[in-house]
Amino acid sequence: MSDVLAFAFPFVIGLSLIEALVLHWRQPGSYDWKAAGVSLLDVLGRKLLLALPFAISAPLLLWVWQHRVMTVPLHTGWALFLLFLAQELAYYAYHRASHRVRWFWATHSVHHSPNQLNLAAAYRLGWTGKLTGTLLFFIPVIWLGFPPKAVLGVLGINLLYQFWLHATWIPRLGWLEYVFNTPSAHRVHHASNLDYLDANYGGVLIVFDRLFGTYVAERKDEPPVYGLVHPVTTHHPATIEFGRWHELWQDLRQARSMREVAGYLFMPPGWGPHGKGQTTEDLRRQRDAENASRMASTAPAEPPLPLAG
Ligand SMILES: [Zn+2]
Ligand SMILES: [Zn+2]
Repeated sequence: MSDVLAFAFPFVIGLSLIEALVLHWRQPGSYDWKAAGVSLLDVLGRKLLLALPFAISAPLLLWVWQHRVMTVPLHTGWALFLLFLAQELAYYAYHRASHRVRWFWATHSVHHSPNQLNLAAAYRLGWTGKLTGTLLFFIPVIWLGFPPKAVLGVLGINLLYQFWLHATWIPRLGWLEYVFNTPSAHRVHHASNLDYLDANYGGVLIVFDRLFGTYVAERKDEPPVYGLVHPVTTHHPATIEFGRWHELWQDLRQARSMREVAGYLFMPPGWGPHGKGQTTEDLRRQRDAENASRMASTAPAEPPLPLAG
């Protein structure tokens, strides 16, 4: 994975810089240079962390490979296609869990923290993914008989593919929207609008979202508002990288039972004990209740029944 990404690194940085210059030139003052700087720091920080020997999942991946059920020979097109599909499904599961399990969201929320979507946001992925066990989601693919190096290589290509999805200037792409993850689909994914939350988790493909009911199309009447539901208003790298971890720690300290500890760790972000939370479902329920009460207060009074003659 690191090979593919290391090779592409100069192109990725160069292209995001060209986009920044063009957007700045077209509308001076509109480009968030500070946010792009934080994203650059994020990717450089991760490169440093790569040098440290604490990839806790690496020995586990090797152990699973040694205990695989079979070995898939990778010299045919079909085998490579199967590897790609299996990796895409594993990525879908990883990405969905990253939004619906707070333990994983603490890292992944860093990717969603920029309030402006652009190519630089693509390489802000958070520093703590290695510690939280992100790679565990890819273990079934290895266990089925695909070598860890090949799985991680395809994952690298998947992540690289997603770079261009962060362009806001690419329109909807016709029939491609049915098969592939596109900039339009990914704009919805990065939006904090209640109608858009928790949607479009795919990597290269969007078919698993369509299959599992998590696909949401971009609408002209609902322009995406980028960033978190509670927007991060600082450009301080430490607050961006560790802010959600700090909030989780504070909640865990207040937990009064093991059930609450588990809830804070593994339920969706915004979960609170006794149903008092701010999960996507809670927020939508609140909005619907507010809309219903507004409708009730503005509805015309019932016309009087005609008197029976
Ligand atoms: Zn995401
Ligand atoms: Zn993204």
